[in-house]
Amino acid sequence: MTETTIFQKIIDGQIPCEKLHEDDLCIAFNDISAQAPIHYLVIPKKPIVSLCECVEKDAALLGHLLFVGSQIAKSKNLTNWRTVINTGEESGQTVFHLHIHFLSGRKLQWPPG
Ligand code: AMP
Repeated sequence: MTETTIFQKIIDGQIPCEKLHEDDLCIAFNDISAQAPIHYLVIPKKPIVSLCECVEKDAALLGHLLFVGSQIAKSKNLTNWRTVINTGEESGQTVFHLHIHFLSGRKLQWPPG
């Protein structure tokens, strides 16, 4: 059996989060260890491990996650932000439930380490 991820516990309401948005398909909340003045995550309620596990029927959901994250950014009057999706351990993924990072509020370096 796969272990329940921390994000599944957030979806199930077992642990709290600073929620920014919720609908039938996703939740967005502030990252607990912010790497920028603004750093939030958008996650699907569907338990997808990573982009690597997505199938064709997830395409609309993936678009929805990006759209919701962008709407949140715009509601914060942001015009500059970075979206990051880590896929797999070597990329830096630590929580194995798909999530999109949105970072803003400071000058971000490129390339990332
Ligand atoms: P990643 O390294 O791409 O898998 O990102 C996982 C992110 O989840 C990290 O930025 C963590 O700080 C964040 N995180 C872990 N636990 C929580 C939590 N309980 N609430 C909010 N963010 C979390």
